[in-house]
Amino acid sequence: MNSLRSRWLPIVTFLVFEAVAVALWLAKDNIFYLFNFSYIGAAVALGIFLFTKKSPHARRVTQLLVGLYMLVYLGLICGENMQIEGFWYYLFTGVFEAATIHYAVAKIFGPLVFGRGWCGYACWTAMVLDFLPFKVPQEPRKKIGWIRYVAFAASLAFVAALFLAHVGNIERIMFWAFIVGNVAYYAIGIAMAYAFKDNRAFCKYVCPITVFLKPMSYFSLVRIKCDHSKCVSCGKCRKICPMNVDMLDDSRKRENGTECILCLECVKNCPKDAL
Ligand code: SF4
Ligand code: SF4
Ligand code: SF4
Repeated sequence: MNSLRSRWLPIVTFLVFEAVAVALWLAKDNIFYLFNFSYIGAAVALGIFLFTKKSPHARRVTQLLVGLYMLVYLGLICGENMQIEGFWYYLFTGVFEAATIHYAVAKIFGPLVFGRGWCGYACWTAMVLDFLPFKVPQEPRKKIGWIRYVAFAASLAFVAALFLAHVGNIERIMFWAFIVGNVAYYAIGIAMAYAFKDNRAFCKYVCPITVFLKPMSYFSLVRIKCDHSKCVSCGKCRKICPMNVDMLDDSRKRENGTECILCLECVKNCPKDAL
């Protein structure tokens, strides 16, 4: 990354978030959006700034700042269910508020631009899983990705059943579903990480949000590409990738291409600056 681009990238990133913050603040007449997107923009810009300074913790700083904010402030303090059940709930009620906006920006339309950046820099589930010791997968990938579709259908069926049964006070149920859901995600995620010796096993096989993330990130503008004139085929990048992506293949159909979380581990570890 040349120094001029490095200097401006955090500022430009912050200004893009700021533009979204002001637009939503004015459109929804709610100052929460100004605070929310300004905070997230500052956290992402800080991460990019640290990356340009070659800090080894750049990604983790952003991930903890955004993940904790979402989990503790939005989820536990404000009582907003930001998990997929919350998205279905607000969608069914026709409310275009925090959870639906969050999904639209981070998980449905945003991935057309920044791929699965959410998974690398913001998700509060992965924020915890990334503390575990299996940062590089130690076993071949399993063929059990179908579980994500079952989890996706189950989340939709759960919320649809609440509506069809005309259950009262769904808002309260959603709050408790957020707590129970997160405890379940952490428990399953940690158990799978140890079983498969892979911190990201939950992301690869179970997480229902990938049903949105994978197809949208296929078209992502931001992608890891290889400069083959520099590459010496040492294979370090593929060995270090937590998501088993074949980043040496530039095509969109590359192996596990929609699994890339833009963590930049391959970029950092390439001895020839070829990525
Ligand atoms: S795949 Fe799911 S659990 Fe993993 S980082 Fe992405 S959103 Fe979070
Ligand atoms: S680490 Fe760099 S040089 Fe080695 S195979 Fe990957 S891109 Fe090529
Ligand atoms: S190591 Fe590279 S290819 Fe693999 S997930 Fe991270 S950024 Fe994507």
